[in-house]
Amino acid sequence: NLRQTKPPLDDSLRQLIGQPVAAIDTPALVVDLDAMQRNLARMADFARKHGIRWRAHAKMHKSSAIARLQVQAGAVGVCVQKTAEAEAMVAGGVHDVYITNEVIAPQKLARVAQLASRLAVDGGRLGIAVDSREGIVRLAQAMNDARQALGGGTVIDVYVEIDVGQGRCGVPPGRAATELVHEIRRHPALRFAGLQAYHGKAQHVRTPQARRELIAQAAQDAAFTRKLIEADGVPVPLVTGAGTGSMVCETASGVYGELQAGSFLFMDADYAQNERDPAQPNFEHALFVKTQVISAGLRHAVCDAGHKSHAIDSGLPTVHDPDGEHGLAYDNGGDEHGILRPLPGRQRLPEIGRTLWLVPGHCDPTVNLHDHLVGVKGGLVQGTVDRIIRVDAR
Ligand code: PLP
Ligand code: MN
Repeated sequence: NLRQTKPPLDDSLRQLIGQPVAAIDTPALVVDLDAMQRNLARMADFARKHGIRWRAHAKMHKSSAIARLQVQAGAVGVCVQKTAEAEAMVAGGVHDVYITNEVIAPQKLARVAQLASRLAVDGGRLGIAVDSREGIVRLAQAMNDARQALGGGTVIDVYVEIDVGQGRCGVPPGRAATELVHEIRRHPALRFAGLQAYHGKAQHVRTPQARRELIAQAAQDAAFTRKLIEADGVPVPLVTGAGTGSMVCETASGVYGELQAGSFLFMDADYAQNERDPAQPNFEHALFVKTQVISAGLRHAVCDAGHKSHAIDSGLPTVHDPDGEHGLAYDNGGDEHGILRPLPGRQRLPEIGRTLWLVPGHCDPTVNLHDHLVGVKGGLVQGTVDRIIRVDAR
């Protein structure tokens, strides 16, 4: 039974619900639920206006509760990066899941096939990406084994990944993709569902013009590949890809039919460094590390959030200031420490015990450091704890 029973919440966590923000001990990962809802509404609006599907990337929040909110807001389902994430989403009641990645290990493929079969019973669907003949043959084998064990004629959606500039997985655009499509069609348990064309590197390029150029090339590669496949008489139901930093470009291309953005919901500090495309919805930061000052010297103060509280692979966090006062820069002080110094032109250091809010440089790996998110409504200063959100796909 995939609907696993969840262990009850820790008492100290449960007792936080209804308490003022001040009651949250530090360091803690806090979601401003009002800001998150606004981001969600902005994404839903954008997709509706442009007539494009969105399938939120759940590797960002790794939480089936948030995934359900996204589906309620209009997402067709979620993307995940891993087999275990797919299982957690399905267990949490999300019935349309796409693994935007290659899965090769037979142990995992057996789980993928089982998940597809269970989902089919509920009228749901599972998708997966491939970029090799070997991967397709292994997937087909796992699907056939599951069909024999569980009965039924379950089919899995298979997307051929092409490398449109990311330099990660994916075959080159063109003939190599066509060959994989024909291989997929040899296996009755596999349905060719379209092309995966994700260019993550373009997202963090700072100017809108440069992002547009990179995605225009990606879209051209995808369109050319689609044309080749269709010339063989095979329809290409969908081109899917795009993340937060470049989604307006994929949308404008007319080639992509589905957006996979994830981080728009919480917004990395790194994304704030992109020069915003005027077409881009004005997403705001919604994820914060609550921390407090534990030591104050003459030139710097020290807080209790280091890189065990937030990921630093995309740069250090910025210090968010809900009452517009501190003017502080964060420097890494190690696992459990952050060093705070006044920004240029500012002098004041925060006193001992002072609460500070950090905006993580990169949300996805930050969430992965925590078992739960503390959801706050009414703002970071006056607000109260509304709910505790489990990171159940962690
Ligand atoms: N799609 C794929 C395949 C990804 O790897 C990612 C993130 O790395 C995304 C979509 C979502 O990007 P973002 O979270 O920046 O919106
Ligand atoms: Mn990311």
